[in-house]
Amino acid sequence: MRLLIRNGRAVDPASGLDAKRDVLIDRDRIVAIEPRIECPDAEVLDASGLVVAPGFVDIHVHLREPGIEHAETIESGTRAAAAGGFTAVCCMPNTLPVNDSAQVTSFIVERARRTATVHVHPIGAISKGSKGERLADIGAMRSEGAVAISDDGIPVMDSGLMRRAMKYAASFGITVIDHCEDLSLSAGGDIHEGLQSMRLGLGGIPGCSEDVMVARDIILAADTGSRVHIAHISTANSIAMVRHAKRMGIPVTSEVTPHHFALADEKIPGYDSNFKMKPPLRTQRDIDAAIEGLADGTIDCIATDHAPHTGHIKMQEFERCPFGITGLETALALSLKTLYHAGTADLKHLVGLFTSAACECLGLDRGRLRAGGPADITVFSTEREWVYDVHSTLSKSKNSPFGGESFRGGPAATIVSGKVVWTAGGGIATRPPSAPANKMPSFQPTTRIQPR
Ligand SMILES: [Zn+2]
Repeated sequence: MRLLIRNGRAVDPASGLDAKRDVLIDRDRIVAIEPRIECPDAEVLDASGLVVAPGFVDIHVHLREPGIEHAETIESGTRAAAAGGFTAVCCMPNTLPVNDSAQVTSFIVERARRTATVHVHPIGAISKGSKGERLADIGAMRSEGAVAISDDGIPVMDSGLMRRAMKYAASFGITVIDHCEDLSLSAGGDIHEGLQSMRLGLGGIPGCSEDVMVARDIILAADTGSRVHIAHISTANSIAMVRHAKRMGIPVTSEVTPHHFALADEKIPGYDSNFKMKPPLRTQRDIDAAIEGLADGTIDCIATDHAPHTGHIKMQEFERCPFGITGLETALALSLKTLYHAGTADLKHLVGLFTSAACECLGLDRGRLRAGGPADITVFSTEREWVYDVHSTLSKSKNSPFGGESFRGGPAATIVSGKVVWTAGGGIATRPPSAPANKMPSFQPTTRIQPR
């Protein structure tokens, strides 16, 4: 029943901790974090040379269940999350049917309870069917466990509806997450509008299609007092506007995906559909702005926008295939590579982007490492070299542009409610947090775990 994580570098941005610590877990709680803990009856996980962090939280994933289970299920998606070091995910409502009612929200909560490897928080829709016409049952979804509202994937074009949604959200104390895209400006586009779209003869999605909606949402957030979170921010202009809004005290936050700060549009190798997503990969100038935005707090957190699509649907002609890529298993490694090893974020800041800062955007009570708190812990390496094999992904889909990519550092072990659910050497170690602890984790006591 007891697990002792020994000799790790414990990093907890919320409390400022960054020191060598042992962490003792009893059932689903952390009971002690001390320089040296002796507990002879505890199973030992040797974390020498590894970072012991609060469980990572991804506030933007698509789990595809109900309705699109050939691409992903709550079970497969949360296994991929565990392999990426995440102990909790928030899932977007664009399923079939759309999560716009208490029934769908409670289905997801119940399904997660029975099949998920990590904690799952549903995000409810803003509008019925995400059609942008009538508000969804926000209060009812909230009662069933929805932590925020969003019509992600299908932008809310009607500013009047968005304003009403924000007023409702403010009264329930939840955040509105917006996928900022003016469809009249992005229509017919496949990649960012610029030299690369001209070179490839593909339709362009101009940066202004995002910027005008970010501007609108900031104005509406100021008007309603609602908390607004800009999903997958991607342009220098949008980042500048969020910076200005924060200085004015407007309650706006933002996230960036690893692919948006790791890849520029000029790196798109011809017509590989694994480089097609919304918003599209932007320019190096936008990437520089994102890294600066992460450094000065304009961008609050990193989220993956994990968007699985099955092979035969994604592997069509570039113009025909759907937007979106998977991202749970590569997020930490890409962030280590682009931010930490490049010297633009120290370890404490980087961990915060995946934990406490991400949780603050939605008001989630997670993302801290403290005695008495829940035993959701991410153990990772900053140094171990590995290659991402997309064919061994735990997701049902393989639409990642990072297959074959070499990384330095990545997840080593994922602990959910006190159970080791995944290790780099052993894959998924146990069943869901709610299942009885009948299976032992795959690591042996005092065995050193192999970071991937
Ligand atoms: Zn989106």
